[in-house]
Amino acid sequence: MIQGENAGKLYIVGTPIGNLGDISVRALETLKQVDFIAAEDTRVAMKLLSHFGISKPLISYYEHNMRQRGELVLQRILAGENCALTTDAGMPVISDPGGMLVAQCREAGIRMEVVPGPCALIAAFALAGLPGARFCFEGFLSMNKRSRREHLASLRGEKRAMIFYEAPHKLCATLDDFIETFGADRQILLARELTKAHEESLRMTLGQAKEKYAQIPPRGEFVLVVDGAAEEPEQAQDAETAMEAAQALAGRLMADGMPRSAALKTAAAQYGISKNALYDSLLNEN
Ligand code: SAM
Repeated sequence: MIQGENAGKLYIVGTPIGNLGDISVRALETLKQVDFIAAEDTRVAMKLLSHFGISKPLISYYEHNMRQRGELVLQRILAGENCALTTDAGMPVISDPGGMLVAQCREAGIRMEVVPGPCALIAAFALAGLPGARFCFEGFLSMNKRSRREHLASLRGEKRAMIFYEAPHKLCATLDDFIETFGADRQILLARELTKAHEESLRMTLGQAKEKYAQIPPRGEFVLVVDGAAEEPEQAQDAETAMEAAQALAGRLMADGMPRSAALKTAAAQYGISKNALYDSLLNEN
């Protein structure tokens, strides 16, 4: 359905995940220019807005009222108002409300624009330093034991890095479950309080992380980046498959800017083949 010219627009606006200096110029311009803001928590939004001297009508849009509020927001946009959608931190929709409103607006043919901003999972993945690695975002693990178990079981052989969100009081239980699923030797990055005064990012094995947080109770918000399963050389169907996979990885690493020698070394080590053999195979390819 295409709406008339009079309908307004929905702006999906990313806001800081801690440091207010991370708000973009475009986010501020958008928040100033819209008619109203649909915010996850109006008190949090109010703090942000008053910090930047913006005064704007707010309407709350959160998990438990999103169905009915979504309809209201939609009607106001259809009537010609422009709306900015924000959450308490980071990008709306990413483990936060907003997905349903975006779907409703899309269904109604309402024009939308995204104003991208900080996102905790992207910030943490950058800090993990896994060049060339692919990743999957897993969000929060369920509190329900059965769906949690099923979720983790589905990730047992995952080769991509896996990114999770976690609250501090659940971290130790989650580390126990990770160890059961991936083994105590698997590497994890624990990124805590990103962009805030006590920002910390530690890379260690799951076993070491469990030991650390058994002694010091975890504090703050966490993003967990768990390495994917290593590509075991014996898992590769044959040496040729391992060589092809190593060539592809070396290519990706170089495209990401890694120097040729380091890329060959990393890819060869990952697939258990010699760096010289990989070098020769690439020469023969060209
Ligand atoms: N929409 C947000 C985003 O774009 O990242 C995520 C919102 S989700 C409800 C909140 C979770 O994100 C927290 O429990 C934590 O796992 C992660 N998170 C948010 N801000 C963070 C920060 N500054 N440092 C570390 N993790 C953070």
